[in-house]
Amino acid sequence: MSLPPQRAELFYTGKAKQVFRTSDPDVYWIHFTDGATAFNGVKRATIRDKGEVNARISAHIFERVAAAGVPTHLLGAPSPVDHLVHRVDIIPVEVVVRNLAAGSICKRLGLEEGTALPRPMVEFFYKSDELNDPLITDEHALMFGWAEAWELAYLRHASLKVNQVLRAFWDELGVTLVDFKLEFGRAMARERRGQILLADEITPDGSRLWEKGTGRHLDKDVFRRDLGDLGDTYRELFARIFGEQLHGG
Ligand code: UDP
Repeated sequence: MSLPPQRAELFYTGKAKQVFRTSDPDVYWIHFTDGATAFNGVKRATIRDKGEVNARISAHIFERVAAAGVPTHLLGAPSPVDHLVHRVDIIPVEVVVRNLAAGSICKRLGLEEGTALPRPMVEFFYKSDELNDPLITDEHALMFGWAEAWELAYLRHASLKVNQVLRAFWDELGVTLVDFKLEFGRAMARERRGQILLADEITPDGSRLWEKGTGRHLDKDVFRRDLGDLGDTYRELFARIFGEQLHGG
């Protein structure tokens, strides 16, 4: 039996995660930190337990998504705050799925927050911190070589499938899934080359989650909009999902 990949040098620091290489060139190690940022890094804080809650929620959801037939980058969790993942080349097209209108679409189109959409919708954004992730059409992605037509078709199809899985998951927990963001990557390993894998994370950092009945926000909008204590909110979400308090506390 071969040894599990060992963590090697840090090569990328994101807003809430660090990515390390490992002893296996086709495997990366993602460490979830307690960092929180909003408005493209303008607002920052450290939130106790956030890394662990996000890592554990994301691993749990990725397993469900994979079981539903959408392959993901996740290989395993060597600790409660770390994921081992397939090395991918991230497609610079972020996918947002919306069930209700909230956030940027309300500003852009003058909609009231919470407006029901007749069916789930998919939007593409160009992944660029300098440009603040602008909304794009397929034409832009094709024109500038960010993704091919079949890849965009796959991103749409897979994201709507993920939405079905997530809606049912959150629904059972008394939570409405308003919207969320996904990132995908192209697998780099020779034996998987070309395969598109769901990558990054699925967490309350990149989703809007409203408590049914009360409409209370159970996601990063608590931090963005100063609605309460983000750490308490995330620990509550953890307890809802796993049926136990984080650290038994
Ligand atoms: N989102 C994200 N990263 C981004 C932009 C958006 O994770 O860079 C998530 C956000 O948390 C929300 C969904 O994608 O769940 C839709 O975000 P929206 O376009 O409404 O933008 P926002 O209001 O966050 O600026």
